Amino acid sequence: MDHDSPSIFTKIINREIPADIVFEDDAVIAIRDINPQAPVHLLVIPKSPDYANVFELADASPELLARLVSVAKKLADEHADGQFRLVFNSGEAAGQTVFHVHGHVLAGGLTEGSLA
Ligand code: 5GP
Repeated sequence: MDHDSPSIFTKIINREIPADIVFEDDAVIAIRDINPQAPVHLLVIPKSPDYANVFELADASPELLARLVSVAKKLADEHADGQFRLVFNSGEAAGQTVFHVHGHVLAGGLTEGSLA
């Protein structure tokens, strides 16, 4: 990766910095966003540091992207009513600040302005 390697998310995965971890398996971790933009604001993150954004992930590993979506749905079921927005900011101009692919799971009392 060109940006900030290792990323903040790799440091969280490696337990080098703390986070509120709500899900983890061999390939995916999910944490609460430190700066929530909705009543439920989680981040679903592949553990691999190899993909900076969602289109790199989709090209290289569509199965892993599908797993992220599946984890997002499971978390929306557990933390809200199963309905959610899944947002992948892709590129600095789109608001991406961490270049280790992650999906924002936004749920619970969403309003029009609550895009992460
Ligand atoms: P992006 O702007 O790249 O789409 O999203 C990065 C997200 O990571 C932001 O919503 C930001 O609040 C969150 N974030 C940044 N640093 C940390 C951290 O150290 N811990 C947690 N839990 N979230 C973080």
